[in-house]
Amino acid sequence: MTAYPIDRIRADFPILGQQVRGKPLVYLDNAASAQKPNAVIDTLADFYRRDFANIHRSVHTLGERATARYEAARETVRQFLNAEAVEEIVFVRGTTEAINLVAQSWGRSNLREGDEILITAMEHHSNIVPWQLVCQQTGAVLKVAPIDAHGELLLEAFERLLTDRTRLVAVTHMSNALGTINPVKRLTAMAHAHGAKVLVDGAQAAPHLAVDVQALGCDFYAFSGHKVYGPTGIGAFYGRRGLLEAMPPWQGGGEMIRTVTFEKTEYADLPYKFEAGTPAIAEAVGLAAAIEYVQGIGLKAIAAHEHDLIRYATERAAEVPGLRLIGTARHKGAILSFVVDRVHPHDLGTFLDHYGIAVRAGHHCAMPVMDFFQVPATARASFGMYNTREEVDLLIYALKEIIKVFG
Ligand code: PMP
Repeated sequence: MTAYPIDRIRADFPILGQQVRGKPLVYLDNAASAQKPNAVIDTLADFYRRDFANIHRSVHTLGERATARYEAARETVRQFLNAEAVEEIVFVRGTTEAINLVAQSWGRSNLREGDEILITAMEHHSNIVPWQLVCQQTGAVLKVAPIDAHGELLLEAFERLLTDRTRLVAVTHMSNALGTINPVKRLTAMAHAHGAKVLVDGAQAAPHLAVDVQALGCDFYAFSGHKVYGPTGIGAFYGRRGLLEAMPPWQGGGEMIRTVTFEKTEYADLPYKFEAGTPAIAEAVGLAAAIEYVQGIGLKAIAAHEHDLIRYATERAAEVPGLRLIGTARHKGAILSFVVDRVHPHDLGTFLDHYGIAVRAGHHCAMPVMDFFQVPATARASFGMYNTREEVDLLIYALKEIIKVFG
């Protein structure tokens, strides 16, 4: 096996080379958003310098070039998720928009009073609130599968909550607050046995795990570009073709139609039916550059590197007096969520910044997870492909120093 090219990777991310408060930046906030490699920054700049125009139905050269690059980006996303067909890939602003689109389009046309949607107790607000909204609109009922003290989903309870009224299961592939990786393939098989469809929130998993929607068997899979080292304002979701074909459009406007008269509109084919208005063109092209960059390193190699980091960080966290990990699932990604006796997570975050260390402190848009663990917030160090064991050492050193000051 060749060594993981950490030096080359770090050199590819210009932002990492800077000092913050006189210290080398240690960026451990990747679960919120990841930094961008030169490949992405340069692609955006080159696209705007040479190829930019609005896309689709263009008769001029730039329009054709921009369209070709936008559609090539869709093919890159298809390969990234291993979807069967490019028509099953819809560009959106991000995971949040994808889930809202499915909730409003699929949900409003498929849910009746008394139908059930099953989520888990570890979901991000963006995989809770859109379902609450559609429940209010349709009379469907939201059910929540519980987790245990490690932050693992209770599989038997999950299965017991599946009934012949369950129409949809919406579950995160990896929790942003705990790091837990859910057995999505197994959950999907259970849901399908009850005739329910499955949406997977892949916001956290996509940057860290090789995703294969056909192997997972899920019906929808959503992710955000900015977490896979790509631009903000772009994401995509996979939807099984038959489902997408039967779903009504979510938003109306230009680009999503075939013909319009005042009496009647015919919608465009997939996936354009779901892409009303001028999309985030350059961002889609930038997302493709990010995916190609990630694939160049290889998700297997990235996952192995991050697995080593979280194992090491977990081991070393035990040295910090009063530190308690929140989220100790057996199968977890590179997220270290924790609280420390007598020091509020926000203070930890603020003081870590004095050491040049960027972590996040808060409820991580998962308030029910905070309630379950009876903490107001956690501090969260989340690792990416460019982080190192030395950075873990700096985090542990700084935490020990901060705790000394707090007595
Ligand atoms: N789900 C999970 C698990 C997340 O971590 C996030 C982002 N924090 C989202 C959904 C929402 O993603 P976005 O804000 O990019 O739409």
